[in-house]
Amino acid sequence: MTTSVQAAPAIQIKDLHKSFGSNEVLRGIDFHVDDGEVVCVIGPSGSGKSTLLRCVNRLEEPDSGQILVEGVDIIDPETDLDAVRSRIGMVFQQFNLFPHMNVLRNLTVAQQKVKGRSKKEAIEVARANLEKVGLGGRENVYPAHLSGGQQQRVAIARALSMDPDMMLFDEPTSALDPELVGDVLEVMKTLAGEGMTMMVVTHEMGFAREVGDKLVFMDGGVIVEEGDPREVLSNPQHERTQAFLSKVL
Ligand code: ADP
Ligand code: MG
Repeated sequence: MTTSVQAAPAIQIKDLHKSFGSNEVLRGIDFHVDDGEVVCVIGPSGSGKSTLLRCVNRLEEPDSGQILVEGVDIIDPETDLDAVRSRIGMVFQQFNLFPHMNVLRNLTVAQQKVKGRSKKEAIEVARANLEKVGLGGRENVYPAHLSGGQQQRVAIARALSMDPDMMLFDEPTSALDPELVGDVLEVMKTLAGEGMTMMVVTHEMGFAREVGDKLVFMDGGVIVEEGDPREVLSNPQHERTQAFLSKVL
């Protein structure tokens, strides 16, 4: 690794465009996430938030523009995509746990297959991360026997077990009953406090205000406004931001 790579932001996006057929979903996105920063992304349904997040680890193929992850151009065909992806943890709205595996196995399988860890080491890492999300002792349970909030915390622990440099969250609490949201946000807050670099698509404005270093408001495939979350939420500059916030706050 060169020094320029180490000095680079965690994520840098330049003039990113993405269409599905004739539907241009991302229309020139520019922004960056610094090391250790928590960036929250808000915006109406269909504004391109998930597509943006999915482009960052190339679950979607961008049409044009640049995405640098820790200084590495992930669109360059020469780039080792698996190596880049291994540094990015992703948590989805729908948990995506393996239903036929118990909690412990959910956390160890990729550690062994992708990271090449021994079973013993993988189990140690898994147990530490289950403790961290408040689910120590639930390792033999199958996902279907956990609440949605517990399943999402397992999904976070699973991502953490791969030792990512950064975490992407796509509406991690949107599928949860309201009383289960708090535990998940608490885990995310702890992670942020430990210095994890995070990009979080969320409708939880309280979380964005309290934990976010930066808030990005997207609409129609562009970033309409970004800034300090407290500033943006209490004093939005753009009409579209004002209209959106008046509906959700
Ligand atoms: P958000 O997460 O902000 O709700 P999305 O990024 O999911 O928005 O979607 C933005 C637009 O892109 C929507 O119009 C959606 O229908 C469209 N879209 C997303 N994924 C696909 C896909 N795989 N194929 C076709 N259209 C898609
Ligand atoms: Mg979405």
